[in-house]
Amino acid sequence: MQLHIGGYIPTSFLDYPGNTAAVVFFAGCQFRCPFCHNPELVFPGAEIERIGTEHILADLKKRAPFLDGVCVTGGEPTLQPGLLPFLREIRSLGLKVKLDTNGARPDVLERILAEKLADYAAMDLKAPEETYSLACGRDGDATLLPLVRKSIALLLRGAVPFEFRTTLVPGLHRIEDAPLLGRMAQGAPLFVLQNFRPGNTLDPGFSSLSPFSMEFLEEFRTALLPFVGEVKIRA
Ligand code: SF4
Repeated sequence: MQLHIGGYIPTSFLDYPGNTAAVVFFAGCQFRCPFCHNPELVFPGAEIERIGTEHILADLKKRAPFLDGVCVTGGEPTLQPGLLPFLREIRSLGLKVKLDTNGARPDVLERILAEKLADYAAMDLKAPEETYSLACGRDGDATLLPLVRKSIALLLRGAVPFEFRTTLVPGLHRIEDAPLLGRMAQGAPLFVLQNFRPGNTLDPGFSSLSPFSMEFLEEFRTALLPFVGEVKIRA
C-alpha cells in the first residue's frame, strides 16, 4: 500500500464532528496556500513522523471498539496512490471515514463516493473563482478551477453528507467574496467558515497577520446564508 503518512493522532474529539476519531495526516499537497498552517505536510517526502501503515492499521484494529471513525486529512489525501485500499481496510474494521480534501482530484473523489468509502467529506473552497489560483499559491494556473468545479458538483449530488469550508484570510478575502462563494456552493447543506490563524504559515509573510474580527465573520456568515442550508463559524 503506497502511502506517505505525515502524522497520526490516535484519538481526537475535534476532527470528525460528533465522533471520536483517529486522525491520519498524509504528506504531500499540490497546493501552496500561503496561509497553510501545516507547511511541514505540504512538500513531497514530508513524512515528519515516519509511521508505517501497518502500525496504524494494527492500532486502529486494537482500538476500533472505542472509536467511531477515522479522519483522513493532510496534506492532500487524494494524492496517495494507496488511499482506496487504505480506506477499504478502515471500512473492514467497521469504522466510519471522514475525508478532508482540497477538491483538486475529482477522479479520486468520484471513486471514493462510488465505492462508499467515505461517510462524510469536508472540501475546501479556497476563494471565489477569480482569485482561486492565487489563494492556492498557484496564481494563474487555469487547470485548477475545472477540477474544483467538478468536485463541487460531485458532492452536491448528495451521495454522502458533506461541508464546504473556507479559511478567511486577511488580504485574500473581502466581504464581497461571500455571495461569490455562496454561488459556488449553492445548495450545499453546510458551509463552515474558519478564521485565519497566525503562526507557522507556509508563506512566512502571513505568519504575523491579525485574524479577522468576530464581527467580520458574522457579517460574512449573514451574506453567505441565503445560498446554503447552514453556515457555521469555527473560529
Ligand atoms: S492549506 Fe493548502 S497547501 Fe496546506 S494542505 Fe491544505 S490545500 Fe495543501
